Amino acid sequence: IERTLSIIKPDATRRNLTGKINAKFEDAGLRIVAQKRIHLTPAQAGIFYEVHKERPFYGELCDFMASEPVVVQVLEGEGAIAKNREVMGATNPADAAAGTVRAEFAESVGENSVHGSDAPETAAAEIAYFFSGLELV
Ligand code: ATP
Ligand code: MG
Repeated sequence: IERTLSIIKPDATRRNLTGKINAKFEDAGLRIVAQKRIHLTPAQAGIFYEVHKERPFYGELCDFMASEPVVVQVLEGEGAIAKNREVMGATNPADAAAGTVRAEFAESVGENSVHGSDAPETAAAEIAYFFSGLELV
């Protein structure tokens, strides 16, 4: 059974959307097996998004992710990585399919409400970045 790292981003926590987003995950068969609310520093966000460090939006993305608390969570299920990305919808909410988190809630391509790991290797690394073994049962 697969696990993926999900983040409910500041634009969504600020608008009290955590419960509505979690309901979409659970309705899709994803189980929330770990979850906590944290406030990242820009440096911590920078390490998390290091793969994007050459992109023009990197600084803005790190400042946004550190602007207010986020909810980091581990989702579990059959094909959890792909399933979560399906529930999230396309990066740009203008392209996101109806009913997805980003179609319903995202404010822009940058402030797009959720993050989800994109492959088994990144999921393992991202889960280990935020959660200790003792927090995962
Ligand atoms: P995430 O990695 O957050 O799950 P994603 O895999 O759909 O999203 P990526 O291409 O990995 O998208 O981009 C990471 C994040 O960077 C996006 O979720 C978004 O917040 C931000 N981002 C991506 N493209 C742009 C852009 N053109 N302008 C501003 N921010 C962007
Ligand atoms: Mg990504």
